[in-house]
Amino acid sequence: GRPGCECNTCFEGPECSVRTPDCTVDADSGDPVFLEPYWMRHAAASAVVYSGWHRMSYRTTNGVFQSVELERAIKQLHRAVGNAVADDKHMVFATGSVQLINALIYALSPDSNAGATASVVATTPYYPSYRTQTVLFDGREYRWDGNTAIWANATSGNSSAGKDNIIEFVTSPNNPDALLRKPVVRGASAVVDHAYYWPHFTHIPAPADEDVMLFTISKVSGHASSRFGWALIRDEKVAKRADTYIQQSTLGGSRDTQLRMLKIIKLMLANLHGEEDIFRFGHDVMRAKWQKLNAVVSRSRRFSLQTIPPQYCTYFNKTREPSPAYAWVKCEREEDYDCSDVMLKAKIITRSGVWNDASSRYTRISLLKSQDDFDLLLERVTELVDAEKNNA
Ligand code: PMP
Repeated sequence: GRPGCECNTCFEGPECSVRTPDCTVDADSGDPVFLEPYWMRHAAASAVVYSGWHRMSYRTTNGVFQSVELERAIKQLHRAVGNAVADDKHMVFATGSVQLINALIYALSPDSNAGATASVVATTPYYPSYRTQTVLFDGREYRWDGNTAIWANATSGNSSAGKDNIIEFVTSPNNPDALLRKPVVRGASAVVDHAYYWPHFTHIPAPADEDVMLFTISKVSGHASSRFGWALIRDEKVAKRADTYIQQSTLGGSRDTQLRMLKIIKLMLANLHGEEDIFRFGHDVMRAKWQKLNAVVSRSRRFSLQTIPPQYCTYFNKTREPSPAYAWVKCEREEDYDCSDVMLKAKIITRSGVWNDASSRYTRISLLKSQDDFDLLLERVTELVDAEKNNA
């Protein structure tokens, strides 16, 4: 059960455990509710309570906007997980990593009086916020310039933007298809979004060490509601510009949130490699979901999923089974050119590949939601695959 939950349309009752008949299951959003049972097991130890007078200032005790202790705890987490080299980087906090997308574009763009425009690009299928957030500000010192297909093959000097003015967004592992990725545009400033570079979702071959990296608590601990993300930035000037953007837009992330984050991260750190390791928990849950979904879809000739091999992981010190955050579904039949519509007719809400600048033959299924959501999803997919057998 989920006491105090906010039920979605498929569930009702005080613990959202009673199914509503015949509903359309929502596998659209990347809401990381799969980690809720972990925090229920640690309810008291992870609670944060403080009085009305506490932490009222714009600034933390050191007169800055970012808690130094929280920075230290995050660096310790990266070191312990081995997923990023953080010690030699500057850290910028924000209201979710989603706020950092524009902060970093601003930081990496030419000065406004230089008269140049930076091109912002990403490789398909990419995370759509890179585009949707950039087009809000198109026409400033940067503009959204589509996917990398033309830029990756361009020989230097023949593009109108000029090679130094390209900002490439890279998601690794990728949302939606879970593949580990590297920048493809030579000479571009890469922003590498490692939202899913944690042992819940992927093997960790080595610590990431790019010049500009993005992380979010949403996909580590599951606290999407706290709206907390951070950037690791090698260059001090770039970090200062990103920090200026954050100060101008929000005067820094919520101090309440920073307090909660410290508690949450310290609890995760204290339990690493033990019985209550959050990554062991997360990997077990996500792997089981992927295994079940794969078993059903592998019986189908109408649908297919991305293939992810088992890989050696430096965190678990062994070869681990795949456990992606999303299934990237392809509809194989000629007539099923709109795959998300095929799913919707079977009462499953997914996110069309069109959003990722990919073909409508693809659609994304989120596996991050609750176990009840997943069980219902699996039933719907099973019905769809079984119907195919009966028709054949
Ligand atoms: N980057 C990627 C690749 C994501 O999938 C998400 C969330 N879906 C975000 C960034 C934003 O995360 P948040 O704003 O919750 O930190």
